[in-house]
Amino acid sequence: MRWRFSAQLHAVKNIELMPEIQITDANRDAIMSGNMCPYCGCPTKYVDSIRVYKVRSYGMVYVCFNCDAWVGTHKSSTRALGRLANAELRLWKRMAHDAFDPIWKAQEAAGTPKYIARTEIYKWLSGAMGIDPRYTHIGMFGVEQCQAVIELCKHYNPIL
Ligand SMILES: [Zn+2]
Repeated sequence: MRWRFSAQLHAVKNIELMPEIQITDANRDAIMSGNMCPYCGCPTKYVDSIRVYKVRSYGMVYVCFNCDAWVGTHKSSTRALGRLANAELRLWKRMAHDAFDPIWKAQEAAGTPKYIARTEIYKWLSGAMGIDPRYTHIGMFGVEQCQAVIELCKHYNPIL
């Protein structure tokens, strides 16, 4: 899988990426709920994901067409999974999940209920990153935070 991501990352490096706007106390909720685009600050649109994936629908998304950035929603809910992500961040989010998910899945396989296993590992991540647990979700992270997740997960030790 790794080769595929590095090939895609090489591809996105050639895209002129838009810098993000500052996430402040005033705009954090609007950004994390998918209502404000973190790249241009504009209000987003709530549309069927076929508009961004083109070939099929994976439910509804919040999207900013100007920035080619979007975020999915929780199943049977209008609640966003986090902040909008552009092409570069979408790749980093996927790689962060590839590093993070096997840790709680191993605990689930060992008999811990999924919800508890995920909560426990997110709690560890929250402490390791020094971020409020409310905002410790890969869907809420930017590129640098996703990179930190990948590094931290390499050194995850269940005994500590
Ligand atoms: Zn935008």
